[in-house]
Amino acid sequence: MDVQVVEVGAGVWHARARHVGWVLVSEGDEVTLVDTGYPRDRDRVIASLEQIGREPADVAAVVLTHAHPDHLGSAEYFRSELSKRVLAHDREVANALGSGIEQVTTSAILRRAWRPEVLLWARDVLALKAERVERLASVDTFADDVLDVPGHPVPVHTPGHTSGHCALHLPERGVLVAGDALMTEHAVVRVTGPQLLPDFFNRDTDLARASLHTLSGLAADVVVPGHGPAFRGAPAAAVSAALQADSARRPSVLQGPIVLSYGATLPVPPSEAFALVAEPPNWPTFFDCIRSVRKEDDWSGIGGRAHMTTAFLGRRVESHLEITVWDPPHEFRYVARQAGAPDLDNRRLFEPVANGTRLHGSTAILPRRGAMSLVDRGQILALRRMYAKAMSQLPAAASTLS
Ligand SMILES: [Zn+2]
Repeated sequence: MDVQVVEVGAGVWHARARHVGWVLVSEGDEVTLVDTGYPRDRDRVIASLEQIGREPADVAAVVLTHAHPDHLGSAEYFRSELSKRVLAHDREVANALGSGIEQVTTSAILRRAWRPEVLLWARDVLALKAERVERLASVDTFADDVLDVPGHPVPVHTPGHTSGHCALHLPERGVLVAGDALMTEHAVVRVTGPQLLPDFFNRDTDLARASLHTLSGLAADVVVPGHGPAFRGAPAAAVSAALQADSARRPSVLQGPIVLSYGATLPVPPSEAFALVAEPPNWPTFFDCIRSVRKEDDWSGIGGRAHMTTAFLGRRVESHLEITVWDPPHEFRYVARQAGAPDLDNRRLFEPVANGTRLHGSTAILPRRGAMSLVDRGQILALRRMYAKAMSQLPAAASTLS
């Protein structure tokens, strides 16, 4: 059977078929199966268990990093035929059950099928029955607590590839199962090494990029992606390689707005973090560049407005803000309008974590053009530094205001 099984940590095996991998975590006689390949990979999943001296009956639970067809393949089989528990993050439920599917559309693939590597890959995954994946009839959910399954993985919510995508950290085994938060090799991409999946596979690439920062603080000796060989090294090294690959892939002459992603962990629950960050009068306490900000009465729902003046690198900008998503304590989003510029999207997501709240932020900005109308790179660096400083001031602001 064409599946390769490599032990990557004590009792942790990385199984790889041609287009996707999964992970086996053993504890005593029992095994946790992380992801299950494509539907047609079922014999390979069983062969991988046999290669480590186990059989399907020994699987205590199936944990999904996310519910794309190349990971969901045999999950329903394990649940309904073998009465096994199947677990997914609570934000991934709709995708797993099929009530809210988040995956690349056939038309998006066809638009790219002029590229030979995409065509060959599409032919292969159709043969693996990607289109006919069996959705789950029911699923157990988790948030950020340690999972009570063999190996006790810690889920790390890393939204972007899908809304409920999770990496799984096995701190005692020195392994980080990254799922599709990053990959090291894919049939439709020529370069290898840690990188994000191509944009068309992701629900939200900006968010996937921001989620990488969540992984870089974790301790592990090996990072196991959903696609490609394991990366030997710390998550921080894999993340920095992935971010570098990402900026190399983007065009160097920027035409429109650019998106800055950033994040911070606030030592307060999501409701308080949301109340702090969503309240414009608080912004100057952590953003040095804000000269004034005034919210209108309706700033607490879609359509709510505010007005802001910023000054940065000698440029003064007036912006009219309007709320486009208001979902406390999970998310808010607004557009910033500046004279003669496209709407600039701003987004803040709040995720409960063990020690408080993880904030994922992204801001679209319109860079000033320098010589020969190229974007001034120094300016972007300065902006990144400004956001990093703001994020470092945020936890303190959270503790004083709460
Ligand atoms: Zn995948």
